[in-house]
Amino acid sequence: MKKTFFLIFACIATIAIHAQQTEITRWPDDKRGAVSITYDDGSINQFRVAVPIMNRLGLPGTFFINTSAIPGSTHQPIFIGRSIEQIIAETESTPTDIGNIFERASAARFVPVKGADDYFSRAGGQIDAGRMDAAFQILDDFYAKVRAGEIESQPTRPADPTTVGALTWDDARRLTAEGHEFASHMVTHPFMAALDEANLVYELEKSREEILSQLGVRSTISTEMPYGTNDDRAVGYMMKVYPVSRNRMDLPYMLELHRSSRLSPIAPEHEYVQWQRGIVSRTSLDEMNGWVDTAAEQQNMWLVTVIHGIDGIGWEPLTTSDVEAHFSHIASKDELWVATFGDAARYIKERMSATVTSAKKGRKIVVSVDHPLDKTLFDLPLTLKTSVDPAWKEVIVKQGKVTKSAPVHHSDKGAFVLYEAVPGPEKIYLSGK
Ligand SMILES: [Zn+2]
Repeated sequence: MKKTFFLIFACIATIAIHAQQTEITRWPDDKRGAVSITYDDGSINQFRVAVPIMNRLGLPGTFFINTSAIPGSTHQPIFIGRSIEQIIAETESTPTDIGNIFERASAARFVPVKGADDYFSRAGGQIDAGRMDAAFQILDDFYAKVRAGEIESQPTRPADPTTVGALTWDDARRLTAEGHEFASHMVTHPFMAALDEANLVYELEKSREEILSQLGVRSTISTEMPYGTNDDRAVGYMMKVYPVSRNRMDLPYMLELHRSSRLSPIAPEHEYVQWQRGIVSRTSLDEMNGWVDTAAEQQNMWLVTVIHGIDGIGWEPLTTSDVEAHFSHIASKDELWVATFGDAARYIKERMSATVTSAKKGRKIVVSVDHPLDKTLFDLPLTLKTSVDPAWKEVIVKQGKVTKSAPVHHSDKGAFVLYEAVPGPEKIYLSGK
């Protein structure tokens, strides 16, 4: 009895596979893995050196930029809160503690003295690491020196020399049209964990508003908070403003971002793994290319590389020849889908939230695919794989006004076609020849 039941079940399953089974492929075009090349801080040679190489090889990149560094930006570095003089005066009688540290840290970098940013960053690094006592000490020392007039004054904040002359909003618009992505790395470049609510929100929202007004809504999907912070409080605010982030992704089955150079084995329960690889001048070309090889061999890999400086300009700069050789190696891998950070995240989120159904109607297969995400941001077509009659030589795929021909592939599981579909109400009709 049990055996009969099993046979009937197996028989139904076989019919389903042949007649109408449709799945969304893990990556577009059924590629084996994905790579996103990302850049932080907008230093000059990312645009002068790396972009021409990427364009020549047909590779898109994602540039996380500090919006106030670009000429003509509306939202400038400012302190949101009470008067800085008042905050300084209070530090005389009240030591820094957990109740006032975020306001004092936020104000510190706007105190018009030399090195204010360095004090803020030193305190911010300690706060980010959870060492609050060390941060209290740094801020108390700083404000004591300020009150005593021991630090030379500096009325205006100096510009970052690595970004001066790097990029205009016109450049960003042109590069976006060419397929690159520009995304928020905040208005300035603060340790977000050290900021109070008003200043945290300013950095997140005003960088988004600047990018929205200059580049349009599609460029507001991604962000990266400076220093790769994983601080829960800062991440909580960030997730209200940006759908996807290189700091942390709110997706199931995803491993935490890996920041070390040691590779972790991939557990089968993880649907995919994201690696975040900071490539610096200490990283050898062999190591960089080895990550690409691993991504090309695995099934569930999204390699996210992080580049800062290039050719002497920016943090831990890579050489031009290493950049060129690394990008050529990526471009040589047919198994890999190279996409902007935003597009790779779009595809993953759309695939994980989409519903796909297919049914046989006469000699046609009717497929529908849709997802509940905001389609102004999540607008990538998905690649569908549908099992077809092995006798079919070619399949005509029609969705709305678009008609394409798809070749029939054969594997040990049967015949199938691969095709792009736009998620939404419009059904897809497959007819065989
Ligand atoms: Zn940065």
